Amino acid sequence: MIRIETTQIGEDGFSVSGEEPGDLLDLAHDPVARSNGPIRYELAVEQAGQELVVRGQIEAPLTLRCSRCAQFFSTTARVSSFLHAYEWAEHPEFLDVSADVREDLLLEIPGFPLCHDGCKGLCAQCGQDLNEGACRCVPPEKGPSPWSALDKLIANPGPRPPKGGTGRGRK
Ligand SMILES: [Zn+2]
Ligand SMILES: [Zn+2]
Repeated sequence: MIRIETTQIGEDGFSVSGEEPGDLLDLAHDPVARSNGPIRYELAVEQAGQELVVRGQIEAPLTLRCSRCAQFFSTTARVSSFLHAYEWAEHPEFLDVSADVREDLLLEIPGFPLCHDGCKGLCAQCGQDLNEGACRCVPPEKGPSPWSALDKLIANPGPRPPKGGTGRGRK
């Protein structure tokens, strides 16, 4: 829980920084993203009328599963301009910003994470990780189509079988 003691906020505001266990992100059962270390935060709290304005930076090391090759890779979710306002009257003793920190960090997780921009992904036919090398599969769009033999027959039907013949014995 990232907790700010609101009783300590003076006219000049108040700063808090530190680390918070990555469990805060609640990613234990997430299939794509996992916490990979403590969340770091540097926040400044200011009084603005009846409100407390909290701004600063937060970051969390994560492990994400690449949406192309399915390998896990390390990255950091960063929020460089965390900014939230709270009614001071509702937080006379302390302000818990954990939920907003969690939400803002989760918004930084891409919908389709990539281990790197040029990730080649997996072969759709054999599952080989194409970043590690090419497989022996023929890419479907480049290989001979099963219809190409038929197309040739239609374009050039060849000699017809003799009348009345069954076609048996033709070469
Ligand atoms: Zn990848
Ligand atoms: Zn393949």
